[in-house]
Amino acid sequence: MSSNALAREPILVGHRQPITDGADYIESLRGRDLAVYLLGERVGEPVDHPVIRPSINAMAATYDLAIEDPELATAESAISGKRINRFLHITESADDVVMQNRMQRRLGQITGTCFQRCVGMDAFNSLYSVTFEADEAHGTEYHKRFKNFIRHCQELNLVVGGAMTDPKGDRSRGPVEQANPDLYTRIVERGDDGIVIRGAKAHQTGCVNSHWIVVMPTIRLRPEDEDYAVCAAIPVEDPGLSFIYGRQSCDTRAMEGGDIDVGNARFSGQEALIIIDDVFVPWNRVFLCGETEFVAPLVERFTAYHRRSYVCKTGVGDVLIGAAAAIADFNGVPNVSHVRDKLVEMTHLNETIYGAGIAASHESHQTAAGNWENDGLLANVCKHNVTRFPYEMGRLAQDLAGGLMVTEILSYPETVTVQHVVDDLRRNASVYADYNVQYIYVTKLDHSLAGVLRIRDLLLGGGETVLGDLIIKDTVTVGHLTPLQDLSDLLDRHRYLGLPVVNDEGRLVGVVRRAAVEEAIADADVIYMEPVVQADYTKGRVDEKDVEKGLTPVEYRVNLELLHQKAKRDAFVLHSLPRMDELTTDVDETRFGRYWVEAFNGVVMRMALLTLILGKAE
Ligand SMILES: Cc1cc2nc3c(=O)[nH]c(=O)nc-3n(C[C@H](O)[C@H](O)[C@H](O)COP(=O)(O)OP(=O)(O)OC[C@H]3O[C@@H](n4cnc5c(N)ncnc54)[C@H](O)[C@@H]3O)c2cc1C
Ligand code: SF4
Repeated sequence: MSSNALAREPILVGHRQPITDGADYIESLRGRDLAVYLLGERVGEPVDHPVIRPSINAMAATYDLAIEDPELATAESAISGKRINRFLHITESADDVVMQNRMQRRLGQITGTCFQRCVGMDAFNSLYSVTFEADEAHGTEYHKRFKNFIRHCQELNLVVGGAMTDPKGDRSRGPVEQANPDLYTRIVERGDDGIVIRGAKAHQTGCVNSHWIVVMPTIRLRPEDEDYAVCAAIPVEDPGLSFIYGRQSCDTRAMEGGDIDVGNARFSGQEALIIIDDVFVPWNRVFLCGETEFVAPLVERFTAYHRRSYVCKTGVGDVLIGAAAAIADFNGVPNVSHVRDKLVEMTHLNETIYGAGIAASHESHQTAAGNWENDGLLANVCKHNVTRFPYEMGRLAQDLAGGLMVTEILSYPETVTVQHVVDDLRRNASVYADYNVQYIYVTKLDHSLAGVLRIRDLLLGGGETVLGDLIIKDTVTVGHLTPLQDLSDLLDRHRYLGLPVVNDEGRLVGVVRRAAVEEAIADADVIYMEPVVQADYTKGRVDEKDVEKGLTPVEYRVNLELLHQKAKRDAFVLHSLPRMDELTTDVDETRFGRYWVEAFNGVVMRMALLTLILGKAE
């Protein structure tokens, strides 16, 4: 610790005017000379960094929403007597707690990511009641100080980060037992003017984009951990803070330029590791100092608030469901039953997350300090849902986006030789083992499809023969936006096992296999069957000249074995009846054979209709 750390002047946030909107907020972050490190280098101006800026845009959306929808994103504060941003509000009713969730879902919809401002909101509300109770027990003045700090943030409309998570080190040991005492943030010096604290805070959401961070302990403490029981507000531009920027998925795409395949280009989340290197905090910004017994309630309350704040993810879920539905529309399959089922399942998962979160908020109770705190058990249910359901939703969305097309295909230019291909196949045998190799797809120089090559023709070709001489050129292709129904029709007309998929420029982008269409059908709850060959029930199907003619192709016949192998356990078959060889009679007496019930109901319905028409019934 530097011995003169206590002599430092208290640092105050530079701006004096309330921040008005998103653009003004972005300007408020400039010129702070923060020590931010990203990809191993110190960042010049975070506001202009392509990886960081989208996270700032997401935070800015919390300001703009307050203007666009003040009912949702602002509240009247009893502390400052002003209408303030809801993220800075101390809840005054259960409705206030519920409104936080509604605002979070809306912001998730707007940004499609983490907008970062909730941690501070939840820290404000948990510390509000804990400081009150600490003062009641100890005669301290933490609550008064904390209210002054809240008023300051409300009046200037600032962003506050909640810094709880310590690096922790060996989890089986408490703070004082760690080999390195700084693994938990602690007080290293107490003086007349304030304290000096040291340590680090991990995974700090939105900290580089904040004006203040509020440091809090991370676990239940024992009396001997007194130095670790510290809560304090630190301005983000304090020179004792350094920020090691955490990575977001696909973040370097933002540095590559271009306007395609950039992910969520405008918005992103932010986490960083904060190093706290002997930071002086004047007493008026210290909100807990050694009262270890109040740490557990603080951690519990913060956790309870924040675990239902995760309804933010349902806003992101709305974006995902909307995107999946748009893709299904684009692919021409919005009404296909398995597509609808998946969208319904995604919605069910999303609303289950929201249901638990909003219920936790509705079940709020008033604390001794007067603010409102949500139900902890339901908040934990919300958190558990959030740790699972978004991943399942992502899987379903992926299925909808491209489940049918296989991109792992063997493709070579038409100018390469047979020997080259054979060598490549041998060299990469383990990679190609998972490929479903029926054909080799051969491309021209511009990557458009030149033709296909049967594996048999490849093996029979001479080693020096170029592929262009062996290929079948008049290849049937499908466009990448071909609707499922058209695809199914095409596969019916041509007996291929798969069809190459090309984009608008004729470039090969993948292959759609017949089996994939069958898999799509295997998702069905109800298998509705029609004959695929034109039925002429006045004649037998078997033509003496060609025994195959008039028969249903094998791959379209449904029998009990196939249903047992492929169909869902509770799926059933409907058929217009009479049937020929497309549906075998061994299905009749099984749970699948609902067509008899259907036929019986049809008779009853027809009889009823006839009775009505003939006026024999009322
Ligand atoms: C995206 C993101 C944003 C975040 N934002 C913030 C933020 O803004 N502010 C903030 O303060 N924190 C934030 N966090 C941190 C978050 O709260 C912590 O990650 C979380 O509390 C878990 O702590 P940890 O990472 O230290 O893991 P741990 O708590 O150490 O858990 C790791 C594993 O060890 C197990 N474990 C831990 N201790 C024990 C033990 N004693 N006995 C047995 N098993 C044990 C756990 O069950 C778990 O399986 C964020 C995290 C993420 C991922
Ligand atoms: S609740 Fe959601 S949006 Fe808010 S800080 Fe946490 S992850 Fe980000």
